[in-house]
Amino acid sequence: MALRPVLLFPDPRLKRVSSPVDEVTDALRSLAADMIEVMYDEPGIGLAAPQVGEAVRMVVMDTEWTEEGNDRDARVIINPEILEREGSVIWTEGCLSVPDFQAEVERAAQVTVRYTDLEGEEHVEECDELRAVCFQHEIDHLDGVLFVDRISRLKRTLYTKKRKKALKLEEEEDVAEGRAF
Ligand code: ZN
Repeated sequence: MALRPVLLFPDPRLKRVSSPVDEVTDALRSLAADMIEVMYDEPGIGLAAPQVGEAVRMVVMDTEWTEEGNDRDARVIINPEILEREGSVIWTEGCLSVPDFQAEVERAAQVTVRYTDLEGEEHVEECDELRAVCFQHEIDHLDGVLFVDRISRLKRTLYTKKRKKALKLEEEEDVAEGRAF
């Protein structure tokens, strides 16, 4: 079966606030499995359900894996909340939903996060560095916020223009392809 496509900026579905998960159903398990596949395929280290068009508070993450190694250990994170934040860090972020762009974003340096998994078990995790940044980035997705919403207006405007131009080119290519035999 084809992988679920990742929605791309400026798709309005990325701006929705996702609903909490109140029951782990087979559909949710299968969505999690799909998301893990998409994450490794893209490749990425995290993916939030709204990025594949599902407005539910679920994220998959594997901040350790590398494309060379096969030590994959994807976590399914349901209803994550940040309990505590400490310090600040500037991190260069990218996003599977924001093509061809990276920018520095200021985040809390350390966070304590609470979430449940597919077995309904509760986890409380303290983390820093990439993992802390990733949690904040993914939880933002659940709130309809992209990292480009956290950079200067000027940088965002420049990126938006570049993106619109790229989309227009794609459209023109589609038209040309449509005419070909
Ligand atoms: Zn993202």
